[in-house]
Amino acid sequence: MDSYLIQMVTGKAALPSVLDVQVSRASKGPCCVAGKGRGHRKPHWAVRASEMSKRTFNPIRAIVDSMKVEPHPQKPLISLSIGDPTVFGNLPTDEQVTQAMKDALDSGKCNGYAPSTGYLSCREVVAGYYSCPEAPLQAQDVILTSGCSQAIELALAVLANPGQNILVPRPGFSLYKTLAHSMGIEVKFYDLLPEKSWESDLKQMESLVDEKTACLVVNNPSNPCGSVFCKGHLQKILAVCSRQCIPILADEIYAEMVFEEGKSESLAKLSSNVPILSCGGLAKRWLVPGWRMGWILIHDRREIFGKEIRDGLLRLSQRILGPCTIVQGALAHILHWTSPEFYHNTLSFLKSNAALCYTTLSTVCGLRPVKPSGAMYLMVGIEMEHFPEFENDVEFTERLIAEQSVFCLPATCFEYPNFFRVVLTVPEDMMAEACQRIRQFCEQHYEGAQDLECDK
Ligand SMILES: *Cc1c(COP(=O)(O)O)cnc(C)c1O
Repeated sequence: MDSYLIQMVTGKAALPSVLDVQVSRASKGPCCVAGKGRGHRKPHWAVRASEMSKRTFNPIRAIVDSMKVEPHPQKPLISLSIGDPTVFGNLPTDEQVTQAMKDALDSGKCNGYAPSTGYLSCREVVAGYYSCPEAPLQAQDVILTSGCSQAIELALAVLANPGQNILVPRPGFSLYKTLAHSMGIEVKFYDLLPEKSWESDLKQMESLVDEKTACLVVNNPSNPCGSVFCKGHLQKILAVCSRQCIPILADEIYAEMVFEEGKSESLAKLSSNVPILSCGGLAKRWLVPGWRMGWILIHDRREIFGKEIRDGLLRLSQRILGPCTIVQGALAHILHWTSPEFYHNTLSFLKSNAALCYTTLSTVCGLRPVKPSGAMYLMVGIEMEHFPEFENDVEFTERLIAEQSVFCLPATCFEYPNFFRVVLTVPEDMMAEACQRIRQFCEQHYEGAQDLECDK
């Protein structure tokens, strides 16, 4: 649209409107061309991006691209913004995982098309890996996808029609809204409460449910909060869904990534009747996001989803085949051979960075970090009243780049203004340096009235 408007403004005023450029070949009235006989339409080029493409919007890109600041020239940039554990090279995947991929490639057996839901043997392996007596799984309960993102896309697409709505956490991972809006599905936000370690506001959650609600999205452990729900809280969420008859889309990509042993709970294990599509994958726990391996686990012990949803997922999986067959060929070994030390080392690294970052930022005037207990993130509240120079979290993080070369995502990206998110996968010395620079930045900009002096 814009380019045509520009043409209209800058073009020769004498010419009639050039609006007909937008009229597509087949549509509007005849447009006779001399010498070509009556009724013959003159075709025009009118290649327009689709409505769906225009409804597809990535808030992180939009916000980050709008932050046009250069890092401080004398300080090397420390980026605490990208949720990709491979960017600093300090967290390689397990040797066995790499070996499994090499073996799968060398076997020469993984080069063809797999069934749309994945190799049967592979689905069996995933089912066996996640099956437990409380929530048993078989191969037919597993659909392999291209990353957890495609799992979420398929799950949303099978559960919701355009015009329906889904309940999504705030703060939360932005993909849910991006996908939902592109599909014409409305998003309603339920709040996570920082003062309650990011537990959901259950009353508000339940009040959002209406006759058009297609599912509840639960992300546990959470990106961006780094929070982990306890068993009791998950049970309360299940009780809401049970009362309201709402299925759950559980984004459990950070399953098992918790700092206290034994604190990892899955919704499916605790559910007696609520049907759940649990989405997961290799990206985070195995530290290989680029391999694009994900899955949906169908938990439906009361047969509420039944054939309807299973057949729907099967049909959707046939649009485009999901995961790369080489990764599928390696999956059994990846799940069975990865050493316990690998998981342990990753978690103790994240836990120690979390402690370092939380402890340091807790003593900074004007900041309120919320202690994380899993995943790879920490959220920090900004007491904006003490930083009157800055309009909001976007401006705060923008100035932090310009003055200290530290880049954190403003939590406006996660629908949660006045916070920023710190990624904990960076090497320890960079983490420490970044926290010191954040402290210096805050000390330089903190303003407290006499009676509001910081007591830290
Ligand atoms: C990283 C992430 C995903 C995406 O996983 P992929 O397998 O890379 O598609 C999904 N959900 C959350 C909450 C994430 O942080």
